Amino acid sequence: MAPTPFYVAGRPESSDDVLPVTHPGDGETVGATTYATREQVEEAVAKAATARTETAHQRAAALDHVSRRLSENAQEVARLITGENGKPLKWARLEVGRAVSTFRWAAEEARRFTGEMQRLDTDPSAQGRLALVTRRPKGPVLGISPFNFPLNLVAHKVAPAIAVGAPIVLKPAPKTPLSALKLGEFLAETDLPEGMWSVLPVPNERAGELVKDPRLPVVSFTGSGPVGWQIRDAVPRKHVTLELGGNAAAVVCHDWDDLDWAATRIATFSNYQAGQSCIAVQRVIVHERHYEELKEKIVANVEKLTNGDPYDETTDVGPMIDEAAARRVEQWVHEAKATVLTGGERQGAFFAPTVLEGVAPDARVAAEEVFGPVLVLVKVKTDEEAFASVNRSEYGLQAGVFTRDLKTAFAAGRNLDVGGVIVGDVPSFRADQMPYGGVKGSGIGREGLRSAMDDYTEERVLVLTGL
Ligand code: NAD
Repeated sequence: MAPTPFYVAGRPESSDDVLPVTHPGDGETVGATTYATREQVEEAVAKAATARTETAHQRAAALDHVSRRLSENAQEVARLITGENGKPLKWARLEVGRAVSTFRWAAEEARRFTGEMQRLDTDPSAQGRLALVTRRPKGPVLGISPFNFPLNLVAHKVAPAIAVGAPIVLKPAPKTPLSALKLGEFLAETDLPEGMWSVLPVPNERAGELVKDPRLPVVSFTGSGPVGWQIRDAVPRKHVTLELGGNAAAVVCHDWDDLDWAATRIATFSNYQAGQSCIAVQRVIVHERHYEELKEKIVANVEKLTNGDPYDETTDVGPMIDEAAARRVEQWVHEAKATVLTGGERQGAFFAPTVLEGVAPDARVAAEEVFGPVLVLVKVKTDEEAFASVNRSEYGLQAGVFTRDLKTAFAAGRNLDVGGVIVGDVPSFRADQMPYGGVKGSGIGREGLRSAMDDYTEERVLVLTGL
C-alpha cells in the first residue's frame, strides 16, 4: 500500500521517510504516510507567507465543499479514525458529523465576517471623521493538533483560518495523521490559492523549529500541558493559543432530582473515547444526601458499558492510544491505594472502565489529568464545599453542575475557575460553535469558530477625514 501523500502549499507530496500508522487495539498497520523533508517544510512556510484569498465567496465555497465531501464520505472517514485512533465507530461517526458542521458553520461565518463603521464625532476634535474597522489576519497560522480528535480538532484550526483568509500550516499528531490527510484530499479539490494551506507530518523536534519560525506569527496548539507551556515560553512575542488538558469535575448538588440521568451521563462521559478527552469526567463531587444512591447507579451504568473491538457497532469503550498509555493509568490506579468499586484491570492497550472512592486529593489519579477511563468519587457536605473542591485543581477547562436552582447555577458560573460551566449535565458537553478553552494549567485563549476567527485576526482602522 503506497503511503498517503501529505500536502505542501496545497499540492500532494511524499518523501522517503515513512511514518507507519498502527491500530491501537492490536498493533496492526492500518496505513502510512511520510514525513515532510526540510525543503518541503520550507516551501510550505514560504508560500504561506505570501498567500492571499481576497474574496469571502471563494473561502466560503471551499469550506462548503469540504463539509459536503466529509458528509458524503462519512463512513469511510469514520473507519479511518477508528483505525488510527481506536475510538469506537459510533464515536468516530459523531466526530465526522461534528467536523461536517464545523466546516459548514465556518462557511456561514466567512460570509458574514465583516467590520463596522464607527462614528468619531462624539468628540469635537474628531468631527468630520469616520472610522471603518475591519479585521485582518495577523499572519499565517501554525496549527498543532493532538491524537484524540484527529479530525475535528484539525477542523477547529483549519476552518476558521480559511474563513478569515489566514494561511495555515497544520501539523497533525504522529499517531493519527490519516484523518487530517483525508481532509487535505478534500481541500485539494477546492480552488483556494497555492500556499493557503498545508498538512505536514513532521517529527516533534522539527515542529519545535516551526514554532520559532517568524513567518508563522500565530501558533494554535492543542495537546498536553508540558508541550504547550514549552511552546509558550519559546515564543513569548508570538500570539499563542493553548488548548491543554484538565481533570474535569461533575458536581451533583443537594437539590438535584434525577440521579438516573446524572449517573448515565457520568458513566458515559468518563469512558467516552476510553477517557481520552480533555473534558472527560474525572472527578464526581457529590452532596452527601445523594452519595450512596448515585454511587450505586454510576457503578451499575459503568458495568453495562461494553469494552472491546472498536469496529464492533456495539462497543462503548475501545483501547487507549497505546499500551504505554494504559500501563500509565494502571500505575496511577495502583498507587492511589483506593477502593476499586469496579474495573481496575488492563489487557494490552485496553483499560477497563474504573470507578474509585477513598482517593487522597493529591493522588495523581485525582490531581493530575488521568486521560483514561477512570472516575474518582468524592463525598461533600455542602455545595460550597463541592465548588471549593472543583477549584482545588491546577486545571480549569470545564465543570458540570447538576442543579435546577438558578442561584446555585449563577454561583457556579461566578465562582468556578474554569473556561465553561455546564449546568444540568457533565463537563464533557461541547458545541463546536461556542467559545471553548481553559484557565490556569488548561491553557490560554479560546477556540470555537467565532472565537478562533477573532483570535487569528486583529482590528485595522481606516479613518476618513473631511466628511
Ligand atoms: P501531545 O502534547 O503529546 O501532542 C500534541 C501535538 O504536539 C502533537 O501533534 C505532537 O506531535 C506535537 N508536539 C509534541 N512535541 C512537540 C514540540 N516539542 N514542539 C511542537 N509540537 C510538539 O498531546 P497528545 O498526547 O497528542 O494529546 C493529548 C493531550 O491533549 C491531553 O493532555 C489532552 O487533554 C489535550 N487536549 C486538549 C484539548 C483542548 O481543547 N483543551 C482537546 C484535546 C486534547
